[in-house]
Amino acid sequence: MAEELNPFKIAQAQFDEAAKKLGLEAPMCELLRWPRREYKFTIPVKMDNGKTKVFHGYRVQYNDARGPNKGGIRWHPDETIDTVRALAAWMTWKCSVVDIPLGGGKGGVTCNPKELSEGEKERLARGWMRVIARELGEHRDCPAPDVYTTPQIMAWMMDEYEAIVGRSHPAVITGKPLELGGSQGRGDATARGGIFTVREACKILKIDPAKATYAIQGFGNAGQFAATLHKEILGGGKLVAVSDSSGGIYSAAGFDPHDLVKWKLEKGSVTTYPKAEKKISNEELLELPVDVLYPSALENVITKENAAKIKCKVSCELANGPTTPDADVILHKAGIHVIPDFLANAGGVTVSYFEQVQGTYNYYWKLPDVQKQLDEKMTSAYHAVYDMHKKQNVHMRLAAYMVAVKRVADAVRLRGWV
Ligand code: NAD
Repeated sequence: MAEELNPFKIAQAQFDEAAKKLGLEAPMCELLRWPRREYKFTIPVKMDNGKTKVFHGYRVQYNDARGPNKGGIRWHPDETIDTVRALAAWMTWKCSVVDIPLGGGKGGVTCNPKELSEGEKERLARGWMRVIARELGEHRDCPAPDVYTTPQIMAWMMDEYEAIVGRSHPAVITGKPLELGGSQGRGDATARGGIFTVREACKILKIDPAKATYAIQGFGNAGQFAATLHKEILGGGKLVAVSDSSGGIYSAAGFDPHDLVKWKLEKGSVTTYPKAEKKISNEELLELPVDVLYPSALENVITKENAAKIKCKVSCELANGPTTPDADVILHKAGIHVIPDFLANAGGVTVSYFEQVQGTYNYYWKLPDVQKQLDEKMTSAYHAVYDMHKKQNVHMRLAAYMVAVKRVADAVRLRGWV
C-alpha cells in the first residue's frame, strides 16, 4: 500500500496536527499516536467441504484512558492491521468528541463474506470470539458490527462469549438483534444524530431548516434515514437531489422522501424514479447550491479538484472521510460549514453505548428515552466543537480533533500515565 494512502498514516497525521495546535508534550504525542495494545491471530475454520481454512483476525485497543475500548468488527478482503489501527484511532476520537465514557477499538477478519455460507460465517464468528474472548468484556473492550458484519453475527459472538465465561453477558457486544438485548433506535441513530447537529448549525447560521433545500449523496442506511428524518426533525425542507452508485436525480419542486425510499428498496436504484425532473451525476449533485449537503456514500468525494465548486452552506458528513484535507481548507475559506464525519455520524456509536449500558444493568429503555439522550449528546458535542472552531479560528474538523484529543490527553494525565 502506498504510504500516502495508508489509512493509519493519515490517522496519525490528523492527530499530529491537533496535538501541535494543543501544544501536547512529546511523550503524550507518542502515546496517543499509537495503539496501546493490538492482537493479530489466526482462526482455523472447518469449511463446508470438510477442509480447514485459516483466517487472519485482528483486534486493536487504541486507548482506554476514558473508559473501555469500543469499536466494530469488519470482515473485508482488504482488511490489514493498518486499516484496523486507523479505525481504532478514529473510534477513540469519535467516542471522545461525543463525550461518552469509552475508549476506541476496532477488529477485523481478512475474508470475503460473500464467499462464505451461513454455517461458515457462524464458525468464523465463534472462532474469532474464542481467540480474543479473554481480552473483551463490557469493562474492557466491547465490539459491534461494521462492514459486512450483522446483528446475527453479533448474536453468535455473544453466545460464544457467554459459553466461555459461563454466564449471561449481553453487554459484551452491541448491535445485537432486539430479541437478544439490542437497543431501540439503533437503526436510524447515525442519521438522526447527524440531523440534530444540522439543526444546531442552522440556528447559528440563521438558516430556516423548514425552508432549507437539501441533497443526499448515497442512498443506503445513512442516506435514506437522513432523507426522511430531515423533514421529520427539522419540520420541513425540500429534498432536491439524491444519488446512489448508479447516478443521481434532481427535482426543483422536491421529492417525497418516503416515496423515494420505497422506490429504492423495491427497485434497487433511485435513477429509475419516474418523478425526477432530470438525471444528474454524482459529481453534479455535490456542486448544487443547496442549503444542506449530506455526503452519505464514499470517502474522498470532495477533493482539491472540486472543492471550489461546492456551493452548499452546510455539509453534514454522514459518510466517513468524504472530504480530503486539502479540500477542508478550501471549504473553510469559502465559508462552508462542515460538520465533520466523526462528529456528524457519531449517533451510531452513541446508541451502541446506550445498548452497552442497558445490557450491563439488564434493563431496556423505551424508544423516546433513547432518542432524547441521543439528542442531548449530539447537541452538546456539536456546540463543544463549534466553540473550539470559533475560539481557535480553525476549521471544524480540526476543532473536533482538538476537542476529542484534549479530552483523551486530560484523562491520560489524570491517570498519571504521562
Ligand atoms: P450503505 O451500504 O447502506 O449505503 C451506501 C450507499 O452509497 C448506497 O446507496 C450505494 O448505492 C451508494 N454508493 C456507493 N457507491 C457510490 C458512488 N460511487 N456514488 C454515490 N453513491 C454511491 O452504507 P451506509 O451504512 O449508509 O454507510 C454510508 C456511509 O456512512 C459510509 O461511509 C459509512 O462508513 C458511514 N457510516 C454509516 C454508519 C451507519 O450506522 N450506517 C455509521 C457511521 C458511518
